[in-house]
Amino acid sequence: MQSISRKDLIRRACSFAEPFRISSGESFRLEDVDPEDTLHLEAEDKPLAKEALTMGIELLAEYQDKLYAQDSWGLLLIFQAMDAAGKDGTIKHVMSGVNPQGCQVSSFKAPTSVDLDHDYLWRCMQCLPERGRIGIFNRSYYEDTLVVRVHPELLEHQKIPPELVGKDIWKERFKDIRHFESYLSRNGIIVRKFFLHVSKKEQKRRFLERLNNPEKNWKFSAADIRERAFWEDYMAAYEDMIRHTASDEAPWYVVPANNKWFTRVAVAAAIIETLDSLNLRYPKVGEEARRELESARQALEAEKA
Ligand code: ATP
Ligand code: MG
Repeated sequence: MQSISRKDLIRRACSFAEPFRISSGESFRLEDVDPEDTLHLEAEDKPLAKEALTMGIELLAEYQDKLYAQDSWGLLLIFQAMDAAGKDGTIKHVMSGVNPQGCQVSSFKAPTSVDLDHDYLWRCMQCLPERGRIGIFNRSYYEDTLVVRVHPELLEHQKIPPELVGKDIWKERFKDIRHFESYLSRNGIIVRKFFLHVSKKEQKRRFLERLNNPEKNWKFSAADIRERAFWEDYMAAYEDMIRHTASDEAPWYVVPANNKWFTRVAVAAAIIETLDSLNLRYPKVGEEARRELESARQALEAEKA
């Protein structure tokens, strides 16, 4: 593994990301993705996978440096999942090598009264990444097609004129989101979306771990159990959302999430694949700037001390 070349690492990253990428949703079915899936990797491959992840993280840092220097493309990474699927840990691990100045994480919880005084994309628009940066959304405007769909009473809090809330509201939201993501893509803000797909059984195991381990108690909230009771509704909402919002320019990656080590490898792979496709380069210094550099060098060398 140590001797794996850069080219090989990128090739492998693409092969790990590709099986989970949904670019066209028509035939997508959530039941076709097994949360336990680790492709061909077994538990004994874990140390190798971790080593590959370490190298992948270094590669990501290099890409991000170029992204920042080039100051032209931006990257928006959206993470959606049921509770305890590992969003926080995945974001923490995968982005651990990246310069904090070039990366910003925004978490979207229940909307505030100020948020509710605006359209539902508004609060997310404030947090879009600048050119040269990576923006991470921990939850996003997709919640407005998920939790709000599972609990339609939340829609009433959104203060939308009642005549605009019809039976096609979810289809309309999907359409708005597709257009919004096209708009971003056409402006050089690349959008990649991750659904970390954990099973109901594994969620139970992780909740119990949080309850039984005092150091993890803080992660548990009674609301998590309440939402768990709506599991089937959430899965239906996720499936419909992916079917309607997966596109070539803004694909979903539906990543098996029962094995955290594998989730991290697959997510890192998808980000590497994306950044590699941009052919990022450090900007070339022009003739005039080169002359300035040369005279700066001469001035420094001429200094006495
Ligand atoms: P963690 O539990 O790891 O801290 P989290 O993302 O689950 O992270 P919470 O504070 O537990 O954070 O939950 C945020 C809650 O806010 C979720 O239940 C989510 O569904 C809800 N939420 C997010 N966006 C909206 C929205 N637009 N309308 C209503 N509820 C929302
Ligand atoms: Mg939570």
